[in-house]
Amino acid sequence: MAEIAHGGPRMTERPVSLKITGLDWNVVFNPELMDMSQGWGFTEPEKQTITVAGDAPFQRQQLNLLHETIHAGARPLLDPDNDPTEAQVRVIAMVFYQVIRDNPEFLKWLTSTEGEVKDE
Ligand SMILES: [Zn+2]
Repeated sequence: MAEIAHGGPRMTERPVSLKITGLDWNVVFNPELMDMSQGWGFTEPEKQTITVAGDAPFQRQQLNLLHETIHAGARPLLDPDNDPTEAQVRVIAMVFYQVIRDNPEFLKWLTSTEGEVKDE
């Protein structure tokens, strides 16, 4: 992760792939998904592809990619009859989205290795 200078521009590229439970998934931001009434996003396990509406508001795109990531990650961990419900995925995605965004130091700590962390 690049260091972010305070006050400077903060450019981040849209992810084109994600490693989810050990598998490389493609990420596609379709600029016309909402136009085509296909909703905000979907996963295609057989293609290891997540598609998100690139025409949704930006925060929606972020939340939706997280949401689809949870769908993609949960599937291989559970038997098919036990897929989490849509409501469960929505709650999990919203909690993680809020916690990650509102606690950047927590995310830094989570992604650090032991030697990098200062004990207080
Ligand atoms: Zn869903």
